[in-house]
Amino acid sequence: MFTSFNKKAFDYSDEAVKRDFELLIKALDSSVSGIIITDHKQPDNPIIYCNAAFEKITGYARAEIIGHNCRFLQGKDRAQQARQRIATAVEQEKECRVEIRNYRKNGDLFWNELYMSPVRDASGTVTHFIGVQNDVTLRKNAERELIEQKALMEKRVEERTAELRDSEAFLSSIIQTVRESLLVLDPDFRVLSANNHFLRTFKVNSQETVGMPLYELGNHQWDIARLKELLIKILPTNNPVIDFEVEHDFPHIGRKLMLLNAYRVELEGQYKDQILLAIEDITEKRDIERRKDDFLSIASHELKTPLTTVKGFMQMLGQLRPADASERYDMIFGKVTLSIDRLNALISELLDVSRIQSGNIEIHHDFFDFGKAVLEAVESIQNTSSSHQIEVSGTVEVEVMGDETHIVQVITNLLSNAIKYSPDADKVSVHMSRVSDFVKVSVTDYGLGIAPEDQSKVFDRFFRGQELQKRFSGMGIGLYICDQIVKSHGGTLWVDSVLGKGSTFSFTIPVNGQQSNEQ
Ligand code: ADP
Repeated sequence: MFTSFNKKAFDYSDEAVKRDFELLIKALDSSVSGIIITDHKQPDNPIIYCNAAFEKITGYARAEIIGHNCRFLQGKDRAQQARQRIATAVEQEKECRVEIRNYRKNGDLFWNELYMSPVRDASGTVTHFIGVQNDVTLRKNAERELIEQKALMEKRVEERTAELRDSEAFLSSIIQTVRESLLVLDPDFRVLSANNHFLRTFKVNSQETVGMPLYELGNHQWDIARLKELLIKILPTNNPVIDFEVEHDFPHIGRKLMLLNAYRVELEGQYKDQILLAIEDITEKRDIERRKDDFLSIASHELKTPLTTVKGFMQMLGQLRPADASERYDMIFGKVTLSIDRLNALISELLDVSRIQSGNIEIHHDFFDFGKAVLEAVESIQNTSSSHQIEVSGTVEVEVMGDETHIVQVITNLLSNAIKYSPDADKVSVHMSRVSDFVKVSVTDYGLGIAPEDQSKVFDRFFRGQELQKRFSGMGIGLYICDQIVKSHGGTLWVDSVLGKGSTFSFTIPVNGQQSNEQ
């Protein structure tokens, strides 16, 4: 406001000048920037004018401003470079632009973007300084945050790069140390790297391997149409190649059986365009398996023959039983017969396994009374078990096409297991039914149950469950045989079980033989 001026500082007499001057002051007062004018001719450059915006920005009233040097705005925050620049500008009577930390009356910091310039009289002598100030705290804060964020980001990028470098080094050290042949391939199936184990196994060096297309390695041993098809799908679909067998006459190492597994490489979302190919030489393993199977087959055949002879002689002995035979004689005779039968059953199971392995299991296909066969199997097991009551529910009144002896073997096996693995229970339930063009049998026990992770394995050859189940005698082949028999009838065998509560083994077979399953 004009009235706020110190008349001594500005001398005016002419009316027109006075009007202009009033207008000028009004204009200054309506500015959003804080404006001050200092008197350069007076000691310590006192403020002789401040506009309303300056009062608003600083929180000080005019009366507290006029006459002061503007340093009061810095409070105790004196050691600022900007202050020195202002002082130099005043001393040298030059303009300057600084960003300076100032403090409002209430002590709050604000960033002041100050533009100062000297005002000269007609002779060019500096009489005043005009200062235009803008509160740029928001911008400064935003700038500071941006700088902080940038620094943080840079730090993160650095950390992440270091992590990735570590992970990459970690990955490559794993690749080099595993006892499996590994190749890393690019999307065109060119070898990016081969581990030492690969080079040693295939007796090749890295020059003839790295950079080469996979299908051109050695004598083109991996150039297999089916393998190519599977590998092509890995990157786009992330479907791994699992247990692909390649039997081949390899250069330097001869005929070998290799097991291939391939995966898209993903390390924390990185390297999605690389393939890790793991190659395992299973020639020897397969050979050992084959020899084990051969041994089982020979051993069970060799055992079966004398056992059949022993069994025959025992029958003869039975017929020759003296009329006055003692109770002890009968008891021993009974025990020997029972043991021979058990041994016979075990050897028959082993023989079944080797027959299944060699594809020689014979399945007869005749119509038989399914319901009757189930009841007969139940009865024969019930006769040998006094600990459990076998409860049968449901009926099947249909002739089923299949091998009655083998189906009875399946039911018998499931029932023996149900009794064996539920020592504290006193019953086993059997349910039979017809479901569409299948018949179904379920055998439920209330015993140990099977751990979830074991449920899919119980049908594997020689699999035996947890320690608890291992306390019971067995060879781990009964369910494998059952599964194979049911499969060869075109049916399925499965288990539902709760650990500690019990298990239900169920199977279905098509009423009219395997053909109806394929319709
Ligand atoms: P074995 O009984 O001779 O071990 P099986 O092939 O009949 O062989 O069974 C394989 C495994 O499955 C058993 O060792 C046992 O762990 C588990 N199992 C089979 N039947 C049952 C059952 N009814 N309850 C609990 N576990 C069972």
